[in-house]
Amino acid sequence: MAAAQYPHLLAPLDLGRTTLRNRVLMGSMHTRIDTQDEPVRRMAAFYAERAKGGVALIVTGGCSPNQEGLIEPGAPVLETEEQALHEHRPVTDAVHEAGGKIALQLLHAGRNGKIDTLVAPSDIRSPINPRTPRALSTEEVEQTVEDFVRCALLAEKAGYDGVEVMGSEGYLVNQFVAERTNDRTDQWGGSAENRRRFSVEIVRRIRERAGPAFIIVYRISAIDLAEGGSPFEEISALAQAVQDAGADILNTGIGWHESVVPTIAYPVPRAAFRFAIARLKKSVRMPVVASNRINTPELAEEILASGDADMVSMARPLLADPHFVNKAAEGLPQTINTCIACNQACLDFAFAEKATTCLVNPKAGREIEFPVGRAKKTLKVAVIGAGPAGLAAATEAAKRGHSVTLFEAAAVLGGQLNLAIEVPGKLEFKETLRYFGEQLKRLGVDVRLNTRATTKGLAEEKFDEVVVATGITPRQLHFPGIDHPKVATYIDVLTGKVEAGHQVAIIGTGGIGFDVAELLTSPHPASHRETPEEFFEDWGVDTTPESSTGLKEMNTKQPGRRVTLLQRSPTRPGERLGLSTGWIHRNRLRRRNVRMLSGCSYDRVDDAGLHITVNGLPSVLPVDTVVICAGQEVNRTLADDLIAAGLKVHVIGGAHVASELDALRAIDEGTRLACSL
Ligand code: NAP
Ligand code: SF4
Repeated sequence: MAAAQYPHLLAPLDLGRTTLRNRVLMGSMHTRIDTQDEPVRRMAAFYAERAKGGVALIVTGGCSPNQEGLIEPGAPVLETEEQALHEHRPVTDAVHEAGGKIALQLLHAGRNGKIDTLVAPSDIRSPINPRTPRALSTEEVEQTVEDFVRCALLAEKAGYDGVEVMGSEGYLVNQFVAERTNDRTDQWGGSAENRRRFSVEIVRRIRERAGPAFIIVYRISAIDLAEGGSPFEEISALAQAVQDAGADILNTGIGWHESVVPTIAYPVPRAAFRFAIARLKKSVRMPVVASNRINTPELAEEILASGDADMVSMARPLLADPHFVNKAAEGLPQTINTCIACNQACLDFAFAEKATTCLVNPKAGREIEFPVGRAKKTLKVAVIGAGPAGLAAATEAAKRGHSVTLFEAAAVLGGQLNLAIEVPGKLEFKETLRYFGEQLKRLGVDVRLNTRATTKGLAEEKFDEVVVATGITPRQLHFPGIDHPKVATYIDVLTGKVEAGHQVAIIGTGGIGFDVAELLTSPHPASHRETPEEFFEDWGVDTTPESSTGLKEMNTKQPGRRVTLLQRSPTRPGERLGLSTGWIHRNRLRRRNVRMLSGCSYDRVDDAGLHITVNGLPSVLPVDTVVICAGQEVNRTLADDLIAAGLKVHVIGGAHVASELDALRAIDEGTRLACSL
């Protein structure tokens, strides 16, 4: 039985002033859902769905206590009673009706804001923001503390169960704490005690003026991973000081946004940074929350059982599956739609100033757009192709009550997802395959593997609707020597059919070109799950408490292979990679001495290697292997035949448009199409 499976995860937490129903806190996310039409209705539906799904305490996306703290123009701010009642009350009511608790995150962006009137403790510019902040005067610091308190009291009026003071990731509160960003000489700077005064005063005054049941969460940076960051002894002293000032829960953040070490994307091993949280827990009596790359109930349970933390924070995993906690409680962890830490539809969307959603769950943040429940009429639906588009379409159509048959020519489900798994660090995609496989089984979809659907067969079975998700084929290139034995496709290399030589040229610098370069220069096979220790060695993370930065030299050990990535365009290679992950790839490949060439034309391949011309200058790369990663073309022969035969056909995914097809678009199209049937 489930509670026995996850006894620590599902145990209530008595905070004294109130009790939380289990140990899962939904971490704050900058979703930008509020930038769409009907923002209040959307936010209420988004958070209520997660409350229904069993999470104990939701922390909202950041809300600024004043205009100077906005993270971007138009970002959420809470300054008036009218805002509390009209913009927030419907959200807290919806969460409470669904049985949950919700805290408002108080986020002042300080020097990280994308606004022109930036303020900070000192006029020191962030390396990731072109704007230089203005240093707050002593009186203004005092006023800012009061703004935090006013915002917390308004949150209480709006029905929130508490607030989270955002003191990590290098935002304003954290900027006061660290010497890196605070060179003030008044009582708000200088000694460590003065630098933590801002945090302590905010917590102390909220505690004094809010009601006795009001929860105060303080989110601390457990390790800064930045030069001039706080040493552990200062972090520990800060934790104790906010505890003494009246905080109830210590949530944790890892690294500043400007840190050069990845902290949440898929290359980070699961729960890699728990060491920083475990040592902090020893400093305080209040419950401590572990965060970053915790995405399964097994791992959460193990962290809690080990005593490293008292709660776990999951943010993206609850975008991916709002019912994560209930599924764990029901003993059905295999039915959880697991966050794969790709960042493609959450962080990357937010960075691109779009409302976030989730690659594996396109309904996230768009709850009000999708129909709920079964379709009025049950249809007989054929889905052809079990890649991400077909899997999503078949699953969703079956959920809608249709009778679904899924045809797949290969022996296994997954299509291109099976290739992604072959890339180092992308084993998380296995979870997506497990999820869909489980759904198909539970929903009774008739899965026909090793079966190539034919027009005649489909017509004979009299399907009402046929969904063609036959995917893509790799683009064939045409230049002299393209059939030379040195030339291989990315599929050949990723599946191990071809073993690349010591000198390799990769034609194409899209996501797949970079993935192949990662594989060919990795010290590990794709099936290897990097350990935290290996990750720390590679990225230069110093885990000793004496380190004030958490940083040391990154690994620059050269791989046994020399790889060159080439593209025709004059732009910077990898420019179109995800904003939150592209820099990770570029950094790692640079350290592995991978050469990147733009503006190439490909002349020929022969025994001497790959002949190219760059800026009018011909040269030859003396390579053993040339891997073609030049994008894809549509695969819609079957679709055209079916349409000609008069069947009711819907073409989705790569079979519809091959250009820039990825799992994000494939799953989105599959889900939406099924919802329209
Ligand atoms: P892609 O991103 O479209 O890149 C194709 C590459 O091939 C480009 O560098 C392009 O550069 C080159 N190319 C295109 N036509 C060519 C031609 N006729 N001759 C020579 N070179 C040509 O495609 P992909 O790398 O196959 O990726 C497919 C999709 O999967 C993309 O949407 C990608 O974002 C996604 N994906 C994402 C990730 C991730 O980690 N997020 C990983 C893998 C794949 P030039 O035109 O400049 O030569
Ligand atoms: Fe997780 Fe990717 Fe979904 Fe973001 S988009 S929540 S990282 S699965």
